[in-house]
Amino acid sequence: MKEILKITHLKKKYQTPTEEILALEDISFSVYPNEFISIIGPSGCGKSTILSILSGLTTPSFGTIELKNKCHLAYMLQEDALLPYKTVLENALLGLELSHNLTKENKDYVIHLLDTYGLGEFLNKYPNSLSGGMKQRCALIRTLALKPDILLLDEATSALDYQSSLAISNDIYNIIKKEGKTAIMVTHDISQAISMSDRIIVLTKRPAIIKEIIPIHLETESTPIENRKSKYFSKYYERIWRDLDVHI
Ligand code: ADP
Repeated sequence: MKEILKITHLKKKYQTPTEEILALEDISFSVYPNEFISIIGPSGCGKSTILSILSGLTTPSFGTIELKNKCHLAYMLQEDALLPYKTVLENALLGLELSHNLTKENKDYVIHLLDTYGLGEFLNKYPNSLSGGMKQRCALIRTLALKPDILLLDEATSALDYQSSLAISNDIYNIIKKEGKTAIMVTHDISQAISMSDRIIVLTKRPAIIKEIIPIHLETESTPIENRKSKYFSKYYERIWRDLDVHI
């Protein structure tokens, strides 16, 4: 299968008034259609920097990003980026509005997504009447509204308690699969990465290079919650834990 995204020798140096910070040393990887990729690594190693570069929020110091077949990317903002004074529908339409793509057809598509994923009754309600999971779903639909081929997810569930994080990971995963999207997720949660991913990219500490890229085969082909019950799960967990060389 042909890759839809190819990243080659990505390097990123930040310049602050007092110092130069080399965040990424040399990062190369490809992404294939419908893959779910997780990027994991020690805190501050440069994970979010990769997503910022991919989304165009920051420029690389060196390296190339090739997007094949004119495919495009969208960054999923966190649920707390929902505007409290706008309704659920208005929030979900925000990306389209800002990019001047708010056509009747696109609006109907967003209403269809909200209906399909359990928010149909909340179109005219405000975010404070939604549960954490519903807010996250609304944030995801706001991103899907832009019809991206690749979704970028940054620590999508990090602000949530364990139970909610499990439920919402499941939710996000199912929607992404059902909509036939490719995803690149940054996380520090080893279990979350194993349960959701086709491949996991493990980074070293800053300045980051790739320590290894691990294809995940759990042989359950199921939801992230079910995947955690796979007999292979702990093998992957131990391998990544060792890779990350965590000292406590
Ligand atoms: P991670 O997502 O792995 O926690 P980041 O990509 O956020 O790491 O950051 C990598 C390193 O780059 C950190 O040391 C961080 O302090 C630094 N950094 C990130 N953004 C900036 C910036 N805009 N200016 C200066 N330094 C930055």
